[in-house]
Amino acid sequence: MRILIAGGGVGGLTLALMLHARGIDCAVFEAAAEIRPLGVGINTLPHSIRELAELGLLPALDAVGIRTRQLTYMNHLGQEIWRDPRGRFAGHDMPQFSIHRGHLQTVLWQAATARLGPANVRQGLRLSDVRGEAHGVTACFTAADGTIHEESGCALVGADGIHSWLRRHLHPDDGGIRWNGIQMWRGATDWPVFDGGDAMVIAGDAVAKLVLYPIAAGARPGTRLTNWVIYARVGDPQAPPPARESWSRRGALADFRHLVDRLRLPFIDVAALIGATADIFEFPMCDRDPLPWWTQGRLTLLGDAAHPMYPVGSNGASQAVLDARCLADRLAEMPAPAALAAYAAERGPATAAVVASNRMGGPERVIGLVAERAPDGFGDLGDVATVDELTAIVNGYATLAGFAVPAAS
Ligand SMILES: Cc1cc2nc3c(=O)[nH]c(=O)nc-3n(C[C@H](O)[C@H](O)[C@H](O)COP(=O)(O)OP(=O)(O)OC[C@H]3O[C@@H](n4cnc5c(N)ncnc54)[C@H](O)[C@@H]3O)c2cc1C
Repeated sequence: MRILIAGGGVGGLTLALMLHARGIDCAVFEAAAEIRPLGVGINTLPHSIRELAELGLLPALDAVGIRTRQLTYMNHLGQEIWRDPRGRFAGHDMPQFSIHRGHLQTVLWQAATARLGPANVRQGLRLSDVRGEAHGVTACFTAADGTIHEESGCALVGADGIHSWLRRHLHPDDGGIRWNGIQMWRGATDWPVFDGGDAMVIAGDAVAKLVLYPIAAGARPGTRLTNWVIYARVGDPQAPPPARESWSRRGALADFRHLVDRLRLPFIDVAALIGATADIFEFPMCDRDPLPWWTQGRLTLLGDAAHPMYPVGSNGASQAVLDARCLADRLAEMPAPAALAAYAAERGPATAAVVASNRMGGPERVIGLVAERAPDGFGDLGDVATVDELTAIVNGYATLAGFAVPAAS
C-alpha cells in the first residue's frame, strides 16, 4: 500500500507522519519550490495537539510556539465579556498552542523528512493530473521547468489547500469561493508582553474586531512576536471576493486605520502595535460550501481542500489534523477504497457543521450579542446578557468542534 499525498501543508504532512507511524508507505508532493515560513499566527486546539503529541512533536512545538493560557472576549473599549481558560488551564490533558503557521509547517516538514526520508517528502511538484487504474492510481506532478513526474500508488489524497486541484477535478461544478464581505488585515511584530505573554484577546463590536495573541518568544527580552488581525465588513456578502485570496497579498494601514482608531484597549496601544508592523497582509474571509462527497474510489480530499472554513474559532489547522488521524486509522484497518469512503463518511458531516457554525460567527458571537444591546459599553454586563446566553454560545461551539472540556469523572 503506497499513499500519495498532494500538498505539504499542515494536513498533508500530519497525514504522512501518521501513516508512517502505522507502517504505511506514503509520499508527500508539495507544489512550493521552497518551504518558507509564510503566513502569520494560527491556533491549534488541544484535540489536535493530542494527535501531534502522539507523534512526539510536543518538544518541537514548545520550542517555537506559545501555550495559550486564556482567551478573553471584550468589547471595543476593553470591557470583558467572557473569559475562557484554554488548553491545560481549562482542564484538557493537552495545551492549546498559538504559533506562527510557518513554524508549525516547518516542525512538521522536518519531522516528515527525518522519518520518511527526503525521497518521500518532495517539493516543487504540483499535482496536475490523475489517472485511475484497476488496482491503483497514477498522479502527475508538474515541476517548475514544466517536466512531468509520474507517481503510482494505491490512493491519492488531495491536501492541496483552499484552491485544491483535486477538488476541482472531482467537483468541476463546485460553486467556488464564498466571500462573506469581510476583509481581514493581519500581521505580526515584536511587542512588549501583555497579560503574562500567553493570553489571547478578541475585542470589538458590530463594526470591527481585533484578534490579538503572542505566537513566539520576542527578539528582545520582555517581548513576544505578537500576532494581530483586524476584520470588518467592507462589501456585499453576495459579491465575489475583491481579489484572489492569497495568504501573502499586501495590505495598507490607510485602508483600515479608521477601524484601529475605534479600539481603546487599556492594556495595549493597538494603533502603535499595528503602526510598528513591517509587513501587513490582507485577506478576504472566504470558505466554500460543504461538498456532498469527498471520496471517489481511490481519490479523496483532506483539510482546506475538503472544507475550507472562516478563520473564527481557531479550527482550520485543527480540523485538518483530525482528518489526518481519521484517515490514517481507517487506512490501517481496511483496503484503500473502503478506508477512503469510511473516512469521508465520518469527517464530512463533522466538518460541515464547523463550516456552518463559523459562518454564523462561531464563539465570537458573544461580542456581537453584547454590541447589539450595549453599543457604547456597559456598566454591569449582567444587565446586557445572561451567563446562560454567553455560555450557550461559547460552550456550544466547543462541543460542536470537538474540543469541549471533558467532564470530571
Ligand atoms: C502560505 C499559507 C499561509 C497561511 N497562513 C495562515 C495564517 O497565517 N493563519 C491561518 O489561520 N491560516 C493560514 N493558512 C491556512 C492554514 O494553513 C490552513 O487553514 C490549515 O492549516 C489547513 O491546512 P491544509 O494543509 O489543509 O492547507 P494548507 O496549509 O493551505 O496547505 C496546502 C498545501 O498544498 C500546497 N499545494 C497547493 N496546490 C498544490 C498542488 N496542486 N500540488 C501539490 N501541492 C499543492 C500548498 O502550497 C500548501 O503547502 C495559510 C495557508 C498557506 C498555504
